[in-house]
Amino acid sequence: MNSGRLQAINSILARDKSQLGPHGNIGEKISSYYGSLVFGADAMYEYMSKKVFKEIQECTHSGNKLSRETADEVAAAMQSWAMDKGVTHYAHWFQPLTGRTAEKHDSFFTLDSNQQAIEEFNGSELAQQEPDGSSFPGGGLRTTFEARGYTAWDPTSPAFILEMKGGKTLCIPTIFVTYSGEAMDYKLPLLKSQTFLEEAAIKVGQYFQKDIRRVNVTLGWEQEYFLIDEALFYSRPDLLMTGRTLIGKTAPKGQQLDDHYFGAIPERIYGFMRDLEIESHKLGIPVRTRHNEVGPGQYELAPMFEEVNVAVDHNSLLMDLMDKIAIRHKLRVLLHEKPFEGVNGSGKHNNWSMATNTGKNLLSPGKSPGKNLRFLAFFVTVIRAVKEHSALLRASVASASNDHRLGANEAPPAIISVFIGQTLTRILNDIEKKEQVDEKDVAEILDLLSKIPNLEKDNTDRNRTSPFAFTGNKFEIRMVGSTMNCAAPMTVMNTIVGAQLKDFYHKVEQSREDGVDLQLAILEQIRNYITESRDVLFEGDGYSVDWEEEAARRGLPNTPNTPDALPAYVSPKSIKLFGEANVLSERELNAHYEVMLENYILKRQIESRTLGEMVYNHIIPATIKYQSRIGENIRNMKACDFDEDQLSMQYDILQRIQGQLTRIKDGINQMTDIRRTAHEKPEAECAQMYAIDLIPVMEEVRIAVDRLEYLVDDADWPFAKYRELLFVR
Ligand code: ADP
Ligand code: MG
Repeated sequence: MNSGRLQAINSILARDKSQLGPHGNIGEKISSYYGSLVFGADAMYEYMSKKVFKEIQECTHSGNKLSRETADEVAAAMQSWAMDKGVTHYAHWFQPLTGRTAEKHDSFFTLDSNQQAIEEFNGSELAQQEPDGSSFPGGGLRTTFEARGYTAWDPTSPAFILEMKGGKTLCIPTIFVTYSGEAMDYKLPLLKSQTFLEEAAIKVGQYFQKDIRRVNVTLGWEQEYFLIDEALFYSRPDLLMTGRTLIGKTAPKGQQLDDHYFGAIPERIYGFMRDLEIESHKLGIPVRTRHNEVGPGQYELAPMFEEVNVAVDHNSLLMDLMDKIAIRHKLRVLLHEKPFEGVNGSGKHNNWSMATNTGKNLLSPGKSPGKNLRFLAFFVTVIRAVKEHSALLRASVASASNDHRLGANEAPPAIISVFIGQTLTRILNDIEKKEQVDEKDVAEILDLLSKIPNLEKDNTDRNRTSPFAFTGNKFEIRMVGSTMNCAAPMTVMNTIVGAQLKDFYHKVEQSREDGVDLQLAILEQIRNYITESRDVLFEGDGYSVDWEEEAARRGLPNTPNTPDALPAYVSPKSIKLFGEANVLSERELNAHYEVMLENYILKRQIESRTLGEMVYNHIIPATIKYQSRIGENIRNMKACDFDEDQLSMQYDILQRIQGQLTRIKDGINQMTDIRRTAHEKPEAECAQMYAIDLIPVMEEVRIAVDRLEYLVDDADWPFAKYRELLFVR
């Protein structure tokens, strides 16, 4: 067998897997080490004066600025806490627009005026840093002469300690902006969108409950991923370069037996999961559930939900941890949305809701009628917002890798619709039917609602094919890709719902000015929203062709490709929305759009080049070698007086191989031509050409290579096959 592939498999079989961990903290109560690496309330309380502690608690809740003196005291407290734990360096930790997380390390160490070594960390170092960020994507926000980017402390997300073998670093969550304060990251728009939504939600919320002072968005993500042995990972240039297999014939057995889903977790994988959980818990990431997913080698983990900003940080941190811990276990995490053809891809469901300072989930229907009018108002407003901005929502989850998943009959379609289940459908229908609502109607509807059987339990009719589903007390946004930073879709959700709540408030106030009673005004607005949202509600099979046609009739956008989906970010409608909400300026939106587009182009370019290399450097040589052996065999057989008829199998194989080689040659040439032509075009057209012209040719090459995989001697085949990637552990 080809040496690289053989070596990979042999090294896996030879591994002493019992040595791979988990290590430490096994069997200890989670509560005894949970959050031990986080500068959270407990640590603050211990290391700060009561006065500063109170001040910072208030600041994180109110969003007010900290004074310089307070910042100095916080920095001092943070430093002593960290140094007590053996930390020597600190880093501003941020989330640039592409890539995952970034950190620039600085040392506490410095020299004082007498050239004595001391450890120092003050408020200004805590508050701001100037990483040499010139090579982070900024989409034209920075011209070269002002190429610096600045990071600024986000006190609403707690600092934490990252442990590596070589030492410990205090990481400070920050936003990343240009000199003039424009966002070059995900966090700043997210924070602004939370503020925007909060303001609108409080106003509407106070219709129902006077003492609502704060509204937080809550996010609970569910992270899907694949694990494979590192030896196999390294044996595949495509996994190494692009995160997905660009070639590979599907194995006879994939996921069709459903024997992996919720099956027993293999011991080696369990070791990885435990390690990951322990590390997550130390960092205050409240992960709770774990299980096998549908694909062989595919798993999921989910935390308890948290305030959205912290939840997003925790997800980014978790993805980094996954990489780090997988390496410890000689595994590799594949976060790509579609690592394997013919096997389920990975997503990251975002469960989204809103919670008040009084502890109420605004999307939770209750037993008492009063609460249900509140529930209805928020519930219907979210749906109305999705109806209005579905194209934008789609754009927020657009990426080269997620394109392989959306609409592939295993993940939600690229058409955004909302699923709410039978019971709520019935209730919305009833409300809509009332021509002119009066007090009797209000009473009737609210009474009806309070008799709803527990909606959370009423999940039996959940529709897995829906991209956006109500699941009892939250909306589950299923289009988000497994590699993605949750911030982009969350920012869009907060902004569109915030704008819709503002509209709701405005309309209700107008009716009241016209002398309509508050409850009636609210119900009437709910009814209007139901009527206006009709088209986005869909309970049927999202995978069916019928739905595609029906959705087109309803005028719902259907954009399967990133280059088609992204322009919704910079449509006049979105620019107005984000501008009025003070979440993203037109300049920022354009810059973010450019970054996403460029990222798409780069990803496709890397994929297509990698495919070319794999073909010419590995596939063709292996195939020709095998071809020559058959040719030699034919000559030898003829020397023994066999005639051509008797050698028909040999001839047949040779012919079939040659046919595929021609196909591959044509394909690779075409790929090169397309890339060359595309690069002379403006970026938007270039991206279009990649999506529409390049991808099908890459598919064509793949089919031909996969045929060769079937025809060529297994011993000569250079790359780990699907059966090995999916099943050898
Ligand atoms: P599933 O069947 O989809 O796995 P779960 O009930 O296990 O559903 O919840 C999935 C996710 O939803 C979890 O991450 C959980 O934290 C999150 N979740 C539950 N309630 C809320 C809420 N009010 N806001 C946001 N996320 C929530
Ligand atoms: Mg779920």
